[in-house]
Amino acid sequence: MCIKNPQTPPEMYNKFDVAYLKMALEWAKLSHCQRKQVGALIVKDRTIISDGYNGTPSGFENCCEDDNDKTKWYVLHAEANAILKIARSTQSCEGATLYLTLSPCKECSKLVLQSGIKRVVYIHQYSDGEGLEFLKNAQIEVLQITEEELRQ
Ligand SMILES: [Zn+2]
Repeated sequence: MCIKNPQTPPEMYNKFDVAYLKMALEWAKLSHCQRKQVGALIVKDRTIISDGYNGTPSGFENCCEDDNDKTKWYVLHAEANAILKIARSTQSCEGATLYLTLSPCKECSKLVLQSGIKRVVYIHQYSDGEGLEFLKNAQIEVLQITEEELRQ
């Protein structure tokens, strides 16, 4: 059976969106986190200007969970890592597209908006959809391409 999300007709995304999302999936695999692995890419003018996956800040041990299997508070989400990498560079997110394997949480959606990113393309929907709603209300283009659509 072919399940299509009625909100994302195929003409809204192109082969590059599909290719970047597949790369984001590869990036997610680099995460040391056990509970959830998320990958992010920031693309501007068809060039990858940043990448990220969820994890602890540079210099910290690579373990994301504490002894109770809870995610440590200082673990940065993939999109936060990708945006902060730009903050340390001479680049800018202005007008860029963010590719994510998991839609942004509330905290990260604020960073996405303030960074100047204009488009968010993601695969999986985060349990809390408020971040996405926030971005949509701020006129950021939000687009889901499901794993099934990626395989086509
Ligand atoms: Zn987040």
